[in-house]
Order: sequence, then C-alpha cells, then structure tokens
Amino acid sequence: MAGKYKVPRGTFDILPTESYKWQFITEKFRQVTKLFNYREIVTPIFESSEIFERSVGEDSDIVEKEMYKFEDKKGRSLALRPEGTAPVVRSFIENGLNLQPNASKLYYLGPMFRYDRPQKGRYRQFYQYGVENISSNDPFVDSEVISLAYLFLKNLGIADFELQINSIGCSNCTKDYDAVLNRYFTPFLSDLCSDCRKRLVKNPKRVLDCKVKTCKKIAAKAPSMLDYLDKNCNEHFSQVQDNLKLMDIPFVINPKIVRGLDYYSQTAFEFVVTSLGAQNTLIGGGRYDGLSEQLGGKQMPGVGFAGGFERLIQSMENEKLSFGGEQIPSIYLVALGNKARVYSLKLLMELRRNGISVDIDFDKISMNSQMKAANRSKADFALILGAEELTTQSIICKDLKNGEQEKINLKEVVNYLRIR
Ligand SMILES: [Zn+2]
Ligand SMILES: [Zn+2]
Repeated sequence: MAGKYKVPRGTFDILPTESYKWQFITEKFRQVTKLFNYREIVTPIFESSEIFERSVGEDSDIVEKEMYKFEDKKGRSLALRPEGTAPVVRSFIENGLNLQPNASKLYYLGPMFRYDRPQKGRYRQFYQYGVENISSNDPFVDSEVISLAYLFLKNLGIADFELQINSIGCSNCTKDYDAVLNRYFTPFLSDLCSDCRKRLVKNPKRVLDCKVKTCKKIAAKAPSMLDYLDKNCNEHFSQVQDNLKLMDIPFVINPKIVRGLDYYSQTAFEFVVTSLGAQNTLIGGGRYDGLSEQLGGKQMPGVGFAGGFERLIQSMENEKLSFGGEQIPSIYLVALGNKARVYSLKLLMELRRNGISVDIDFDKISMNSQMKAANRSKADFALILGAEELTTQSIICKDLKNGEQEKINLKEVVNYLRIR
C-alpha cells in the first residue's frame, strides 16, 4: 500500500509503536533537570542565519555545508537551527535573563537540522536535549553541569559509557598552542585531507578532531593542549577534576576532545559509548565563554551540553533497557447492538471524565471481533454492554488477565473500576 510520497531523505517518522521511547527519555530528562532546578527554554526552530554564522563560524562544516539556509518572502536570511546553544544565548541576551532571578539554568528539547550525508544514526532532522548554564566561569558550575548529564544517563540505566574530559584552554593559551600545532602538522601537509589543510590555517585545533583516517593517524602523535595551558586554565581544569572525584563520577582525560565549534574554551567533555563503533558520542559539551560577545551581548561565560535522542535510544536498545512500556488503555469497551453502541458514547465520556483511560473500536460489530480487539489492546479489563444489560442497567466487567467476569450495576461502574 506504499503511497507516492515518501518522508524527505535523511528524516524519519516517529511512529506510534516507537513514540513511547521518545516520551520516556523526555520525561527522564525533565525529571533530572528538575533535580538541579534547571528550567525549560523554547526557542524557534528557525533563526536569523547570522546567529549561526557569527557563533558556530562561517568556515565550520555546519555553516559552510550543512545549514538549511533560506530567504523568506521579505528576503530575510533565515536558517533552520543546526544546534541549540546559539539560539539559547541569543534569547538570553535579548531578554536580559542575566538580570532575572533563577534564569541562568536552562534546558531545551527539540529538533535540529543539518544537511548531512544520511547514514546510520545520523539524520537531517534529529532530536536533541541540552542544558546551558549562562552565568559563571566557576569550575564548580562545569562540574555540576557534567554531573547532571551523568545522572541523566545513570537514571536511564545506561551502563556502557565513559566520561572523557579535556581543557582546550582560553585564547591566551591557544595562541602558543596553535603555533605549536602548525609546526607539527606542516611537514604532513600533503597527507592531510583538503578540509584539514584549510583548518591548519584558520583553526589548527580542528585537525585534531578530523574523522579521516590518515588525519587521525597524524593527529595521534600531535603535542597535547594540556601541556600548553596557562596557570589560570590549568587551575580551572584541576578544580573540575577534583570536583568530579568528590562527586564519585569516574572520568578519563582525553586531550583529543576539541569540540568542532569555535566558541568553546576551557572545559570540554564527552560521554562516549565504548562499544558502538565510530558514531560513539552520546553527549558532548563544554564551556563557551566567548559566545555571548560574538552574538553582540556583553561578556557572559557559559557551559552546557547536548545529546541526541537517536543515539541514546540505540544505546538503550543495545543494553536491552526498558522504556517504561507502550501506552495501553485500562479499559476496553465492547458494545453489542445499536442501543448499546449509542449508550457507549455516554459511558466512554463518563469514564474519561473520571480519569479512566478507555478505548473502543466503533468499526467492529460482533462480540468475537470486539473481544479480539480488546485482547490485542492489552487493556486490564473489558466492559461488555449488550441490550440485555442495558435493560437491567448493568454491565459485565471481564478481567482480561485471568478471564474472570462479574456483573455490576451500570451506575456503580466508575466506583467499581476505581477500587479494582
Ligand atoms: Zn588559558
Ligand atoms: Zn582531515
């Protein structure tokens, strides 16, 4: 029965047989953000494209190749958001949230868009959850943000992950380090991929992040950023580590984490699945003290993280974790004959008004087909209403688990079900 139209390439439908998994993760995320008193911020799906060009950087892959950029009817240049941090910081500045109490701890949920080559676990519309704390450069804030991500994964039951942390320093440390990297990579110039040759000029740190095999091999022996941190950044990084130890959060240091985006500084971290292969980052985050200024605000330090739903679901499926079960109604109503069918609408409404979930299949007529539907629905009870029951103002309640049934007064049905 496949129709003429298909979902756009690189996108997918979240079908009713899968959506409970998304709801489960959303709920768990909301629960953990509540524990930390983070509050939700919802920004538009599209923004002025300049926001991403100025923050993510015009020479980044995201802006250069992957952004869904378009003009509206008045010729405004807009973009479907490729990531969540820049819009949140834009809103933070615009609404003066720094002046409002308890407005610096934010979380968001929603779709992001990148025109990427579709492959397993990578989509053009993908769903992210994320947290931003815009207020402070204190390493205690970094540690708390990391602990939120950690607790989220733990609460989902995920066991197979590793926290990797790094410090990528500040612009003061980076100056020296960029020169060191340049000296290191230049002899290998002809072996680097074409992207990395450009990166070496504009942002040599990003060569460390390249996924191309030959680049990876060359980068493996590159000098470590950690040897070039200035005193301030060094102390910041050790404090983050001390705090994580204090909170019993295991971690390893991975000097190769640089984060693809230009506005990151100091702390960078990833939660990585150790058994998933190439696409193995569950959550990526870090500090972005320079972002607010780049978006025309005043200097405002921030730290946050984001992760994708798709990979999280994949991980949970790999570990055979529960998503809390599919949605099932408590009651299935079986109405036999026209009079019962008419009365069923009244009864359905009464049950639903009282907070009892109930389903019915109006297309099925016979007892047999309706009972089959009731069993397939996995409801706890079937209520069976026929002409005979109507005349005696009664209804049959059948326990679908053990098959036992009982005749009850139609007026008492809500009370009866509440007790059951
Ligand atoms: Zn520094
Ligand atoms: Zn490369």
